[in-house]
Amino acid sequence: MIEKIKRKLVHKYTAVITSMLLIVFGGCYYMYRQMVAKSINDTLNDYLREEVREAEEALNIGPNKIQLNLDDADINAINHFTFWFMGDKIISSQETINKDLFEKLKQRMLSKNYQEDTIYYENVKSHKVKWYFKLMMKRLYDEHGKAVGKVFVLANNTPMKHSSKQYVVLILVVISVLTGLAYLVGNYFAGRAVKQINIMFEKQKRFVSDASHELRTPLSVLLAYVELLEKQKNSPEITEEMKNEILGMSKLTSNLLELARSDNNRLTLEYEQFDLVAKTGQVIKNFSSIFSQKRLSVAIDMPRRLDFYADAGMIKQLLYILIDNAVKYTPENKKISISIIPEGKKIKIIICDEGIGIAEKDLKHIFERFYRAEKSRNRNNEGLGLGLSLAEIIVKEHKGSIEVKSELGKGSCFTVTLPDSLTT
Ligand code: ADP
Repeated sequence: MIEKIKRKLVHKYTAVITSMLLIVFGGCYYMYRQMVAKSINDTLNDYLREEVREAEEALNIGPNKIQLNLDDADINAINHFTFWFMGDKIISSQETINKDLFEKLKQRMLSKNYQEDTIYYENVKSHKVKWYFKLMMKRLYDEHGKAVGKVFVLANNTPMKHSSKQYVVLILVVISVLTGLAYLVGNYFAGRAVKQINIMFEKQKRFVSDASHELRTPLSVLLAYVELLEKQKNSPEITEEMKNEILGMSKLTSNLLELARSDNNRLTLEYEQFDLVAKTGQVIKNFSSIFSQKRLSVAIDMPRRLDFYADAGMIKQLLYILIDNAVKYTPENKKISISIIPEGKKIKIIICDEGIGIAEKDLKHIFERFYRAEKSRNRNNEGLGLGLSLAEIIVKEHKGSIEVKSELGKGSCFTVTLPDSLTT
């Protein structure tokens, strides 16, 4: 789907660039043609007037002086030609022109009914070469006002035609090259933009599939228990297991919800001032029954009070995740320590345990969503691999850092460093 969007983007971008090029070059071409055409037409007009004046003078003197000059004219020059007619007889043709072309033009001028002062476009083929002309005509009158002849003036428009053709070909080549270039550049930039979208899309897809997988497992376990319950009337162990599964699922869904809310790993924090020590005390109290259940000794090292400015709810969630992990991954009769240490403009929250520890190869992955170290995965299905990724987002959003030191079989220490904005 993303590839389709990319293709569409590139096509639209290329189409826009091509249209713009066509408009710019087309406009230039149109203006150029208009300007050249105007200058040729003006010259032709002046030339016609001059020729008519000369022809009228010549008529007064006597029209018998025929002057024909039939050398080869240059097809590549915008030269002008003139023809004076008395009836169907040419009495003067002043410019150089080849004989074949001369005859063909003469026939054309005699056969067609031209209007005065109008510009006509004519083309004549001579010796396999096509000539293009602009033509104008004016009648000659004698002293009684009787039409006695015609004066034709022609401008060789062939060079203009040729250069126009060359211009069009050149422009088409330039536009094709630029369009190709625009396509490649568009493809490159769209590819770069789409790459990021693709990464996010893939992450999102993996997240949804992992989440649904994680939800499906406890659901099928619950279903199995319900089926068992249907068969056995009184079974407190089954309801206990069901309760655990439901608790696990609600933990997962609340973590999922937080992660889903954190659009692009961002959370909206609501800062407030609170006593961090009291907040930590509350969390520890919530764990007291599980501490005693597992006979864990808990060493607490905190100041009496520590005013802190942060999102209290998120900090509580962070403490909950870290202490919950320490409890989960520490066997019975071991020790957990929880410390809060103000250090200048920073505050350190350190949670250590004497638990199973984390293998070197797992350390770099434990903050990834749904990642669980092999050992923890094998233990039971208490964890879901979401806690630490959420913890990391919370810490980062508070502009802090989280570090872990761990040794397999000996225990782990999580250190969260947060800036203390109240002291800065
Ligand atoms: P989970 O719900 O599986 O605990 P987390 O994201 O909180 O998910 O932790 C990811 C993994 O990191 C855990 O599955 C576990 O392998 C490892 N881990 C986290 N905390 C500890 C700890 N205190 N001791 C040992 N392993 C831990």
